[in-house]
Amino acid sequence: MSTKYVYTFGDGKAEGKADMKNLLGGKGANLAEMNLIGLPVPAGFTITTEVCTLYNQKGKDAVVKLIENDVKAGIAHMEKIMNAKFGSKGEAFPLMVSVRSGARVSMPGMMDTVLNLGLNDDAVKLLAEKSGNARFAWDSYRRFIQMYGDVVMGVAAAKGEHNPFEVEIDKLKEAKHIKQDTEFTVEDLQVLVENFKKVVKTKTGKDFPTCPWEQLWGAICAVFDSWMTERAVLYRQLNQIPEEWGTAVNVQSMVYGNMGNNSATGVAFSRDAATGEDIFNGEYLINAQGEDVVAGIRTPQEITIEGSRRWAKLQGISEEERASKYPSLEEAMPQAYADLNAVQEKLEDHFHDMQDMEFTIQDGKLWMLQTRNGKRTGAAMVKMAVDMLKQGMIDEKTALLRQEPAKLDELLHPVFNKEALKKAHVITKGLPASPGAACGRVVFFADEAEEWKNRGEKVVLVRQETSPEDLRGMNVSEGILTARGGMTSHAAVVARGMGKCCVSGAGDIVVDYAKRNFSVNGTIIKEGDWISLNGSTGEVYLGKVETEDATLDEDFTAIMNLAEKYTRMYVRTNADTPKDARKARDFGAKGVGLCRTEHMFFEGHRIDAMREMILSDTVEGRRDALNKILPMQRGDFEGILEAMNGLGVTIRLLDPPLHEFTPNEPASQQYMAQKLGIPVERIKEKVDALHEFNPMLGHRGCRLGVTYPEITEMQARAIIEAACNLKLRGLDPRPEIMVPLVGTVKELKQQAEIINRVAAMVFEEKGVKVDYKVGTMIEIPRAAITADQIAEVAEFFSFGTNDLTQMTFGYSRDDAGKFLPEYIRKGILKTDPFAVLDQEGVGRLVEMGVKLGRKTNADLKVGICGEHGGEPSSVIFCDSVGMNYVSCSPFRVPIARVAAAQAAIEE
Ligand code: PEP
Ligand code: MG
Repeated sequence: MSTKYVYTFGDGKAEGKADMKNLLGGKGANLAEMNLIGLPVPAGFTITTEVCTLYNQKGKDAVVKLIENDVKAGIAHMEKIMNAKFGSKGEAFPLMVSVRSGARVSMPGMMDTVLNLGLNDDAVKLLAEKSGNARFAWDSYRRFIQMYGDVVMGVAAAKGEHNPFEVEIDKLKEAKHIKQDTEFTVEDLQVLVENFKKVVKTKTGKDFPTCPWEQLWGAICAVFDSWMTERAVLYRQLNQIPEEWGTAVNVQSMVYGNMGNNSATGVAFSRDAATGEDIFNGEYLINAQGEDVVAGIRTPQEITIEGSRRWAKLQGISEEERASKYPSLEEAMPQAYADLNAVQEKLEDHFHDMQDMEFTIQDGKLWMLQTRNGKRTGAAMVKMAVDMLKQGMIDEKTALLRQEPAKLDELLHPVFNKEALKKAHVITKGLPASPGAACGRVVFFADEAEEWKNRGEKVVLVRQETSPEDLRGMNVSEGILTARGGMTSHAAVVARGMGKCCVSGAGDIVVDYAKRNFSVNGTIIKEGDWISLNGSTGEVYLGKVETEDATLDEDFTAIMNLAEKYTRMYVRTNADTPKDARKARDFGAKGVGLCRTEHMFFEGHRIDAMREMILSDTVEGRRDALNKILPMQRGDFEGILEAMNGLGVTIRLLDPPLHEFTPNEPASQQYMAQKLGIPVERIKEKVDALHEFNPMLGHRGCRLGVTYPEITEMQARAIIEAACNLKLRGLDPRPEIMVPLVGTVKELKQQAEIINRVAAMVFEEKGVKVDYKVGTMIEIPRAAITADQIAEVAEFFSFGTNDLTQMTFGYSRDDAGKFLPEYIRKGILKTDPFAVLDQEGVGRLVEMGVKLGRKTNADLKVGICGEHGGEPSSVIFCDSVGMNYVSCSPFRVPIARVAAAQAAIEE
């Protein structure tokens, strides 16, 4: 561990730099870097992430003692540069600071910011006197009590209530008949300060602290405490961020955006975070502080003229009204705008990525408070990488590595059907904060969104504005609608990060939490009513609007082509129908890695023939029944082999627990009895006899083919006949017959003999031959352990990591849902092993299986077809053990392709 705990910056110098994010957090590292490249940044210091770790290990007192002197020195450093004094008694301008958290990656679940720290009843007077601006001083003070009360002292709104400080503000506004915060007089603000202090006292039982140093330590410790809050833990879980990382604390001199009408504060993006377009954009508020923009309390104005005009159009505001009431920064403060524009260009060039920046303009002078690589939607991620590649800012490999594979999913999601949209009833319009098409039932509370979702409902979360407490609810919702807040509000930023559809700042809606409804232009929409959101236009529709498949653009294709260029493994698909196979082929699948044949038996009346087979006591009876199924199966296989013409298609022999096919209902038992002309009691007896206590470990997989070889014969025939038919039509079918649930080489040997015998017969009958392979699933631990023996018979292995996970952990696939969430909450498991391959355990068996298999069969082709085949971290693992391919469901094919290419690049 390093022993330097505090890093200072200011006045063009810094002890840290951009590549020290692990130690200084993203915010701290970039504040240092901005200093180093000559941008205007208020002086300050960063307490390292290692201190956070110590704080969690040793507790508050030990840590305060450890860094006390460094923090004092840090404050002295700021006092010198800013020519001000912390806790000034009148001898100098009072120094006020901001305290902000900053982990390696930005985490909306944590304590964010306390501004104006250092103010108290004396300092506010001094600030008023020295600045000559009493209104500004009192406005800063009331903000400080509000923020500190909120984030450090934990004054919170009860469920269904509004924030108690906001309630005070609203009350006063009502009493004074004013609309905007900016209309408060000095006396109003003084009243607010007193009322806020009372709120703190009532809600926490404590007095608001007056000593600046006590305030400072309170805020620093609150940042460290926020690392372990429930919502921060949840955010880390959702985003796989390790607890060990910790957060840094940034203490920085205040600059004031609320000093009057020549001051402002805002958030800006060097490109459009929603669409990816190379358009500088952002929002600002005159005479305000940073939190006003993010919290969505006042609706902010656009930075550029262009953006402002677009916004006005969406809101139905005339150009005259826009220019007079809501001018852009470009118009209102041309010099500060020009400076900001130059800074954003410089920062993007410096970091080679889209920047998300916070700034403040104090009395006309621009100050930078933060820059980071901006969060973006899946579509923006793709577009920005392709554009930056074309602009020569990044190379091909970087463009690929910039893709978060799982986010590509957003591009494949359905969009609204154009015809349905024309007929849809628009009830209001907000800002297009995060694109997508969402339909769901209205809920107003995050916890209820979760409850509804758990019941299987689709929900849209509707809030006045969102806050980090709403994270869980946002995560389970189809989309988010807020009444307040702009494109950079909490709702908008978080939704874009999650890839969720969001319409923010729909100013016409009035949310009534108590009545659980919202009204908009005379219409009342109640909890449970259906609405649809268009995150690309900001439109909100009543009811469900029909959706359709998305079309993929050329940027997406460009990324896929790059993936193709750099990948080592190829990607197949799991598909049971020709339609799915074709879809996957469009997405770039190079064949089928798993065709599950059991689903085909459930279609229409096929199940009757299947039941006939199961219920029959003789081989002949079973053969007769299977002969009825044969032509249907052959048709299925022809369709899939044709869709994947020229590419390998792995067709797996039947693998269900047999009892899934038995007629369990009295009505279907009666029906089968009549059909077969036997008493219903016989059927019942047979069904009882087939009952299993543990079907997952029962009569399934190749055990069926061993006990009923005629099933294997029929399926082998259907596959080979289908292939021969296609070959006779001049096509190039490449079937690969896969035996499931093999545990010993002898099972495979016997099944392979049947398959080869039937194939020879069919070739003879058809007078044509096709190439085919016989291989096996590796999904029983014993198969992985004896893979060398099995590979002497198998031409390919496909790891069935669903069953392999089940049997390695001993967790039933059907029942694990009952306890796995608790295991993850308690930290026994990091993630669900059925979703993310457990590399330490199951992965070792996989690795062993690949190695042993190749030892006896150097040409052995190896892939994976369990759910993990489309999960990015598992795909990377598959590459590391030398698999030839991964196979996943059609919609995950692009994700797997990018993950596979990234694995190859990073190797
Ligand atoms: C597996 O076990 O991983 C697999 C792909 O087979 P299934 O899910 O059909 O059991
Ligand atoms: Mg399986």
